Amino acid sequence: MLQPIDLDVFLACLVAAVIGALFFLQFWYDRRDALLSDHRRLSSVFSCTRCSFTYVRPRRRAEASCPQCGWNNARLKF
Ligand SMILES: [Zn+2]
Repeated sequence: MLQPIDLDVFLACLVAAVIGALFFLQFWYDRRDALLSDHRRLSSVFSCTRCSFTYVRPRRRAEASCPQCGWNNARLKF
């Protein structure tokens, strides 16, 4: 059997649920943006001096071999 509740209690629960959902969404998107930013910031870009192929490797590294021709290239610095 359902118990009748006051409108004030119902509205207070509703507002608390909405505020909780907004805090959760803010935390979720903030965390996601931080992870994406780290991934982009920590990647290294290379341009092959032999075949002119441009490629990206994860993490900071000084050299990486070209996936097309295997030539070892230095990281591009901007
Ligand atoms: Zn190459």
